[in-house]
Amino acid sequence: MENGATITNARVPQRRPEATSDRRLIVADRVWDGRAAHPLQDGFVLIEGDRIGAVGRVAELGDSMTALPRIDLPGTTVLPGLINGHVHLALSGSSRPVRDYLKDARTGIAALTVRAVRNLRLAVESGVTTVRDLGIVNEVGFTVRDAVADGRIPGPRVVTSGQPITVTGGHCHWFAHECDSAMDIRVAIRRQVRDGADWIKLMLSGGNLTPGTNPLAPQFSRDELRACVAESRRLRMPVAVHAYDPQSIRWAAECDVDTVEHCLFETPEGVGYDPATADLMAENAVAFVPTVSGALRRDREGPAPVAKRVHDKQTSIREVFRKLLAAGVPMVAGSDAGVPERGFGDYPADLAALVGAAGIGLSPRRALIAATSGAAEHLGLADTGVLEPGRRADVLAVRGDPLRDMTALEQPELIMAAGVRVPPPSVHQES
Ligand SMILES: [Zn+2]
Repeated sequence: MENGATITNARVPQRRPEATSDRRLIVADRVWDGRAAHPLQDGFVLIEGDRIGAVGRVAELGDSMTALPRIDLPGTTVLPGLINGHVHLALSGSSRPVRDYLKDARTGIAALTVRAVRNLRLAVESGVTTVRDLGIVNEVGFTVRDAVADGRIPGPRVVTSGQPITVTGGHCHWFAHECDSAMDIRVAIRRQVRDGADWIKLMLSGGNLTPGTNPLAPQFSRDELRACVAESRRLRMPVAVHAYDPQSIRWAAECDVDTVEHCLFETPEGVGYDPATADLMAENAVAFVPTVSGALRRDREGPAPVAKRVHDKQTSIREVFRKLLAAGVPMVAGSDAGVPERGFGDYPADLAALVGAAGIGLSPRRALIAATSGAAEHLGLADTGVLEPGRRADVLAVRGDPLRDMTALEQPELIMAAGVRVPPPSVHQES
């Protein structure tokens, strides 16, 4: 994690590749496009500048392509670069991220930006080629987003809400717009759109990170949520809603938001799963983003005995997500990287933790779809998440076959973000 501290010119090309002059073939034992039931055996991906030019089987390569420069990766599977649907780039992911944040914020915007730049590097070096940041100071979020897009710093492509919307003293009020009426919310949305936000993020429930809030009840009224969605729609903005409790999730489904973050159905007595809400989410194609993989991963690794209360809670939360999936609610994978104990380099392990009985019952393929083609579809990112001609050359190659064993994701051999190769931390720079 610490061994790639210097960012050299070799890692960050000063000039983006030209659209068609820079053609290369990636050749691997398996190529999985992000959707198919099975990978192509002995496949190739043709990279043309920052885009994918073609995908197919090596045996079918035309004469004009056999002479192209090749990156041969025997023993690997090539798949789309990963999408992390929920991160906080300016948070540390330590055991006390709020303390770290407030200390950085007192120092000034530069300290927060340095942290975000470092988190971006950790993310891309683990195979993540797109992140959606759902809560960050605008100046930091929009600056690093634009710097990655211009090739000035390494990282996954960033889409971000910038500052979220909360109530006075509400969840994440440190970097949010504090709004206490429908008109306040409309004004905050107009400011976010004016200043460059890609998403609108509303904190509907309180949150565990913020003392003095109630995570198990809505902070806003239903009419205020309606105003948020109406104003966002007027300005053609997608809406992500943070919701823990059944009432908040129900309102989010009724108001037809785009994604429900966390979606735990948590009540003071335990879990209050509501099948009617799940049906409404499925009908409206409202996706949920279960940000629990870090907890599941720790459970799987079992470094310390898990307290019974925590263990019971995790078991019931697993049940919630299984039921949502069974009801046909779309899922977008996201780790909440930046909050306690969720690192930016941990996403491959976080995804592996979603699989099977120890996770939330997903097959490897469904977990991978939630982090590639499915995430792209439900986050409105039509230019990534699938290996097909015309999409961004966001490409990951891993040793082994992640469709059989998800832990293969933790052994990246090649990472390419929009055609720019980013070596994983353990790999030396090649010629
Ligand atoms: Zn979050």
